[in-house]
Amino acid sequence: MQQEINILVVEDDSAAAGCLESTLKLAGYHVWLAGTPQEGLEFLSLNTFPVVITELRSAKMNGVQFTRQAHKISAGTNILVLTPYSFVGSAIEAMEEGAYGYITKPLSSSEIRIVVERAVERYFLLSGSKDKEFLVDLAVRDGLTGLFNRRYFNELIMIEVDRLKRSPATLSVLMLDIDNFKNYNDTQGHQAGDILLKDAAKVFKNSVRPSDIVCRYGGEEFIIILPQTEKKAATIVAERLRVQVGLYLPTTVSIGIASVPEDAREISALIEKADSALYQAKAAGKNKWCAA
Ligand code: GH3
Ligand code: MG
Ligand code: MG
Repeated sequence: MQQEINILVVEDDSAAAGCLESTLKLAGYHVWLAGTPQEGLEFLSLNTFPVVITELRSAKMNGVQFTRQAHKISAGTNILVLTPYSFVGSAIEAMEEGAYGYITKPLSSSEIRIVVERAVERYFLLSGSKDKEFLVDLAVRDGLTGLFNRRYFNELIMIEVDRLKRSPATLSVLMLDIDNFKNYNDTQGHQAGDILLKDAAKVFKNSVRPSDIVCRYGGEEFIIILPQTEKKAATIVAERLRVQVGLYLPTTVSIGIASVPEDAREISALIEKADSALYQAKAAGKNKWCAA
């Protein structure tokens, strides 16, 4: 028989805990229930858990604190936080502290299964390594800017878009590309180019909400997921980003915007739409945003 996989659920609401337990048991996992974060941390120090699912709004410890403590005990454990979609910002804050992802309430068994399966897969992918903490971080973050990397973006957007198939919510993505960056590198040097990319990452992060997910897509391209944001609001964010870059950086940026479900319902189509909107912004003279 296959090795039993332990999943720890930290949840004081018995209805939610019961739903998680039955769904996860049905999917073949061995489920442990803890009523408080403290109890959860105790379990974590006694057993191996590839995945921990935890409630965010415990009075004694929030998701960010729990994530920190849990990773001190077990660096490789993937933490998923439970959150109502309207409070997704606090889940993303926990992700900035190293939580792997989140599960939205009201709970859906298909979402639970999809998100947990990914987290378990990731655990076993990385568990062979001696230098787990380093590798776990490397799998998620870009080494230069510290932003989430393209690989993690792909995992996140898959889960986000999947969620939208079951709810009437909307989401937008912004694809950003630094203007004339090759010229900047050529005239100022590659190191100055690297500094510019790091600074750009900071400006982007400071110009959006904590619930928005900023990723380095590659080279001088960035992508930002704006959960629960329709296109009109996304254009306001894009304009703010464009202005902030002009204020704080020795360069400009062009931005393409696309939204689910308005422009696309699948990820590849969404990225293509954002990319061609970005191309339009470049063709129209750069330092602009265009919406699909
Ligand atoms: P456009 O305005 O049309 O976007 O032109 P561009 O010059 O910004 O775009 P192009 O794609 O021609 O050049 C991108 C440059 O980005 C070329 C590449 O050397 C540089 N680059 C990619 N990654 C890095 C990096 O990590 N550090 C530095 N310093 N440069 C990088
Ligand atoms: Mg480019
Ligand atoms: Mg460019």
